[in-house]
Amino acid sequence: MPTNQAESILKAAGLAEQVSSYVGGQWLPIDGTRVELIEDPSTATVIAEVLAGGTDEVDQAVQAAYQAYRNEWSKVSPAHRSALLFILSRRLQDECESFARLESLDTGKPLSQARGDVMMASRYFDFYAGAADKLSGETIWGARADLSYTVREPFGVVAQIIPWNSPIAQLARGVAPALAVGNTVVVKPSELAPLSSVAFAKLCTDAGLPPGVLNIVTGTGVSAGEALTRHPLVRQITFTGSVESGRRVLESSAVNIVPCTLELGGKSPGLVFEDADLAVAASAAVGAVRRNSGQSCSAVTRILVHERVHDELLERIVSSVSKLTLGSGLRDPDLGPLVSAAQRERVESLIQSAREEGARVACGGSRPTDVELSAGYFVTPTVLADVSNSMKVARTEVFGPVQCVIPFADEDEAVSIANDSDFGLCAGIFTNDFARAHRLAPQLEAGQVHINEYPLDSVETPFGGFKASGIGREKGLQALESYTQLKTILARVRG
Ligand code: NAD
Repeated sequence: MPTNQAESILKAAGLAEQVSSYVGGQWLPIDGTRVELIEDPSTATVIAEVLAGGTDEVDQAVQAAYQAYRNEWSKVSPAHRSALLFILSRRLQDECESFARLESLDTGKPLSQARGDVMMASRYFDFYAGAADKLSGETIWGARADLSYTVREPFGVVAQIIPWNSPIAQLARGVAPALAVGNTVVVKPSELAPLSSVAFAKLCTDAGLPPGVLNIVTGTGVSAGEALTRHPLVRQITFTGSVESGRRVLESSAVNIVPCTLELGGKSPGLVFEDADLAVAASAAVGAVRRNSGQSCSAVTRILVHERVHDELLERIVSSVSKLTLGSGLRDPDLGPLVSAAQRERVESLIQSAREEGARVACGGSRPTDVELSAGYFVTPTVLADVSNSMKVARTEVFGPVQCVIPFADEDEAVSIANDSDFGLCAGIFTNDFARAHRLAPQLEAGQVHINEYPLDSVETPFGGFKASGIGREKGLQALESYTQLKTILARVRG
């Protein structure tokens, strides 16, 4: 049974304690026999039952999206789509507090970070609303045809599969550009944190988005996710999640030959040189464990530091990390819990492997002793010193509040350690030498390089990984390319 507080948070967001999939502007029937239990990770108590959707629900959602595309959304003018997306952005701002509380309850993230995510979601809708009526193609001269030009067209039905760490922001990151250019969408949120996604779909209908333009199917990756990626009417897939699941999604996308954007994991290095502003570098390193308890794909979790400033930087990081507060997300501490028992076990086992391989736990590395926190999935924020890049903890995405500090002797070694990773999502460079920063940025195998502050990205800047961190780009105007297909029209116009 959900607590009174959980019940009132669900109610404020328009949800009951039984939550279904939202398809064609309506809730699908739910009878309690096929449900997933949703927990508050701060207390490990059940807060809701959510329909465990599968092939049938996915088919209903895709059919609804297909009908909405053919009968309505493809006929709506770009200017009208733009106006609707601006309305969705405003509605999210108006409902910021109720969505933030729901997201905090569902994921455990601190309330102020959840508010930031909701405002970020609103910003995605604003940004892509502004872009919806500005798509253009090119004319091509000197070709065989007298007139050759290109147009960008929507795919029709597109699928979004999102993880649990920042659901409302990740949903908006893909849904806003997809709708802006005229697609209809089926979203499969994570089975661990689906609540803000379904609440948002209901809000869209209330705000005037035609039924079927945005649909949410709840359920696991194996049941709902796979059915969605293999559905013949789905013409594009965007997947955000782990490398292992991304690989399976890519295999599924081969069934119907559909393009796939993959936003996967990371193990981003931050290169701190001897001339860097160490306060700035330390703040980036601390932010990586504090923000969402380290459950962030772009977290800078390998701090590579020049040996001359190693001890000083380590001391600064440890001093700040040791002061971070832990607590229930709704109380807005520095760090909330990890999302699930399984995630905490994964983090603890990686810390243990680091110990066994010779790393030193400079702070954290355990469960908090505070009785109030004993039921939730907490791990104290952890800094590991004496880490070598060959250790498992330096090669694996921890997705928890764990920072690794690794020394280097010179520029070449720093770049070589940075690039010695399966991942290539982001990288940071901290130096006051402008020339060095811009000499090294092109050498780093990463989709984004942040210089002298981390993170610096925003809705306007393209985002995505090199190597195992993914394929394709989200954010910025670049994302519009992922959600459209290029058509070339060639004409003979002479008599
Ligand atoms: P996950 O791969 O377990 O699940 C992600 C989503 O995929 C969930 O909705 C899940 O149900 C679904 N899924 C799982 N298997 C599937 C399958 N075979 N077919 C279709 N769908 C399937 O990932 P997670 O644990 O939810 O999220 C953490 C991971 O997400 C981390 O690796 C993190 O780095 C990554 N992530 C990446 C970005 C990015 O933008 N690059 C952003 C956030 C999180």
